Amino acid sequence: MNNSHYDLVIIGAGMVGACLASLLSRSGFSVALVEAREPRPFDSKDDVGLRVSAISPGSAAILEQAAAWKAVNASRNRPYRRMQVEDGVESDPLLFDAPAFNMERLGTIVENALLQWSLWQVVGSGGLVDVYCPDQLDRIEFGDNSNHVYLQSGKVVAATLVVGADGAVSGVRKALGIRQDHFSYNQQGLVAVVRKQKPNPGVAWQRFLSGGPLAFLPLEDGRSSIVWTQPSDQAERLMKLDAEAFNEELDRASEGWLGQVESCGPRAAFPLSMRLSECYASKRTVLIGDAAHVVHPLAGQGVNLGFADAAALAESLIRVRLAGGDIGSAKVLQGYDRYRRSESEAMAFGMHALRSLFSIDALSPARRIGLAVVKRSWTIRDLFLQRAAGVGKNAPRLATGASLRDLMQA
Ligand SMILES: Cc1cc2nc3c(=O)[nH]c(=O)nc-3n(C[C@H](O)[C@H](O)[C@H](O)COP(=O)(O)OP(=O)(O)OC[C@H]3O[C@@H](n4cnc5c(N)ncnc54)[C@H](O)[C@@H]3O)c2cc1C
Repeated sequence: MNNSHYDLVIIGAGMVGACLASLLSRSGFSVALVEAREPRPFDSKDDVGLRVSAISPGSAAILEQAAAWKAVNASRNRPYRRMQVEDGVESDPLLFDAPAFNMERLGTIVENALLQWSLWQVVGSGGLVDVYCPDQLDRIEFGDNSNHVYLQSGKVVAATLVVGADGAVSGVRKALGIRQDHFSYNQQGLVAVVRKQKPNPGVAWQRFLSGGPLAFLPLEDGRSSIVWTQPSDQAERLMKLDAEAFNEELDRASEGWLGQVESCGPRAAFPLSMRLSECYASKRTVLIGDAAHVVHPLAGQGVNLGFADAAALAESLIRVRLAGGDIGSAKVLQGYDRYRRSESEAMAFGMHALRSLFSIDALSPARRIGLAVVKRSWTIRDLFLQRAAGVGKNAPRLATGASLRDLMQA
């Protein structure tokens, strides 16, 4: 394919943008994908990367339709069937077991580098997507029937619909002039790969501590990828500790779980924030993934929300195309905006409430009553799990078993 007018131009080939490019190109749309940096090839001989994601079953189904899940599944990943949540005070943890909810697995821990590389391979080969890389968005000229995207290389591409998948500091959102609520948690997520005395048996474990949650996510070789949320000053202090002192602190924080820390690899820390855009679509342009919303990582939902955005948008555009409509019309954009904004705001505020519940004094009646209700109520746990698994009642059809072919025949 080689033209400069496309059905869609997607800015950003992170996990979310590349997933959308694959879904839409495989559904017959002409797609251009613009990316600033080509991802590094994934090599399973390298050690496990510091950035991993808990991929929900719903996202795995979407990635299967994007033709990327097979490669992910054949490489380094670790499914988990149990989620164990502790509050650091009560002795009995809150358990979520996949079979109790009629699920085969609750999710799969996958390195971001593997996901991104698998998607990049799909969109970069096969000739279905025109990839502009390395290149960057310079500006967008908005028009009534199409938009013109000017790239820093001097190239210009026109499209019926422009998609901003360019991450939290989105240039597309800026070009649209969309306002965003930005709440900094004044916390950082410290990540590292850790070996404990006993191998991780395939459990996503999380303990809520006074500074924030500490998660151990299982890896294929029995190690765990940790995300340790801490107030920024504490995270900076932990980053500066030598290995022995750091391991001692981690031991204290994770006492009783898989024995002592045996080793810990390099550490990195990321500032945490919640960002909610006041609208996700305008002027023949939509936002997906972190460009539209950023949520606290305590339930590992950020990229899962992004995959659901990509699936929802693909479904809507396929429907419109089948009916002979305009994929960039205001009506189509409003439908996407309403649906995805309500879903991600519900998730963002849910994470916010959970974080607030666990940040209040451990002995406070509000916290104890809140936790007791969650522990006893199967309905609440079921609802929580369905949402976390990406298969709740408002999930896109591609997340719950429909194929692109099903959608195109509808
Ligand atoms: C500590 C931590 C742990 C996390 N754990 C999880 C988890 O377990 N599960 C989960 O679901 N989420 C998790 N998240 C969130 C998740 O990492 C993000 O939601 C996800 O990476 C967002 O992907 P994206 O494709 O939307 O954006 P990005 O990954 O930011 O990709 C944007 C892409 O756009 C490109 N780009 C940017 N600007 C331009 C431009 N002007 N022109 C061209 N290209 C451009 C960039 O190069 C990049 O490739 C976590 C986040 C943190 C901080």
